[in-house]
Parts: sequence; structure tokens; C-alpha cells
Amino acid sequence: MNYCTECGSRVELRIPDGDGLPRHVCTACGKVHYVNPLVVVGCVPEHGEEVLLCKRAIEPRYGYWTIPAGFMEIGETIAQGAARETLEEALARVEIHDLFAVVDVVHARQVHLMFRATLRDGDFGAGEESLEVKLFRPEEIPWDDIAFLSVRFALEKFLEDRAAGVRRLHTTVIDRNRSA
Ligand code: ZN
Repeated sequence: MNYCTECGSRVELRIPDGDGLPRHVCTACGKVHYVNPLVVVGCVPEHGEEVLLCKRAIEPRYGYWTIPAGFMEIGETIAQGAARETLEEALARVEIHDLFAVVDVVHARQVHLMFRATLRDGDFGAGEESLEVKLFRPEEIPWDDIAFLSVRFALEKFLEDRAAGVRRLHTTVIDRNRSA
């Protein structure tokens, strides 16, 4: 950022007193502009044996498959956010169950939270951010065309748990800057 959102003056990058990291600090009013990780909420919507996936109509990863997920909004819970994203991207109403995957995506400055879910009715379709929305049997999942590592992790753990008849909470860290 170049200008203060409070007063419009120039900001400079420096470490404020008592802080440990460089921040954008206003040269006029002194406001410190913090940038913190964003929360992405999503779910694996189940319908019988099948799971619902969306083919992305937006960048990044245009044309790749994902579970319904997106940035949490102010004023909603993480479960409400996951249900809202599913309605927007897959035109599907879901019942949100337990949180089963927490993924630190350090390089993207995001935390991804994924729930198990079931379709309330069989209805779904392609929302504005999806090219196509489709139910997949486990053996049909297009693993080579999954949009994000966090989504691959969630789908793998979801299917493992279902096959084992258990409901666990899974966590992992993805940091492309460190593993590369
Ligand atoms: Zn200012």
C-alpha cells in the first residue's frame, strides 16, 4: 500500500515500537496498517456415495476442480460461510456437519477450514464462479485436475475417514516458499 486509508497521507514500511515485523505506518497520523491472514471456509458436500465438485470459472486455477469454498464474510460463522459459498458456487443447499480439515496455507496468507456436509435435496447447478458442477463417485474424482493442495488434502481425508467409518479432525501445513 502507498497511502493511508484513514487520512490519505503516505505510508512507510517500518517496524513500530514494541512490534517485531515491518508494517505500513502512516507518516502523518501514525496509524499502523496490519495485514493478517484470511479465513477460507468450505465443505465437501456428500450425496449418497458421491461428492459434489465445482469446475472453477475464475482465476486462479481456472478450469480446475474444487470443493465449494471461499473467503469468510464479516458477520457470519464459519459454518454459515461454508453453506453460503456452496449456495453461490454450486447452487446447492447443504447441511453443514463437523469441521474435519484445518489447513495453514502459509504462502497464501490463508487458513482453510473444511466441513463435512450433505446436500439437503438433490438440487445443484453451476453458479457464476463455476463452469460446471458435478457429483463424483470416489473412483471418478479427477485427482490430476484438483485446483489446490488444500482441496486435495480435504478430499483424501474425507474419503479415508468415510471408508474407515470414523470422523477425525485433520490438520496440515502447506508452505510453498518453504517446501520449494
Ligand atoms: Zn494516516
